[in-house]
Amino acid sequence: MTSEKTLFSKIIDREIPSTIVYEDEKCIVINDINPKARVHLLVIPKKPIATLFELTPEDKDVMGHMMLLLPQLAQAQNLEGFKTQINTGEAGGQEVFHIHIHLLGN
Ligand code: AMP
Repeated sequence: MTSEKTLFSKIIDREIPSTIVYEDEKCIVINDINPKARVHLLVIPKKPIATLFELTPEDKDVMGHMMLLLPQLAQAQNLEGFKTQINTGEAGGQEVFHIHIHLLGN
């Protein structure tokens, strides 16, 4: 069985270049290539979960981990506030089918 690697898995595996802002054993944070705000980060789990619809109870840890990271990332970028967005499914505007949290701030 062959399974196509997601764009973000290729970034995680350094097959495609990107600006990596933060990385740990569970997730990676990169600059969005087409920023919609002064700061536009993507927080991406290393596990290639396609959309929020595919989440299972075993993903609670990584999803909680990423939520806890958001305010730390914002503070590191000197943001006093920020917006988050998770596009889900084609109908929800999702383009890359590997879960990611957008963190936006000016
Ligand atoms: P979404 O519509 O939620 O799936 O968002 C996908 C995001 O990935 C968009 O904001 C794109 O600008 C961003 N993106 C696409 N390719 C890359 C890349 N090579 N490096 C960084 N961000 C990317």
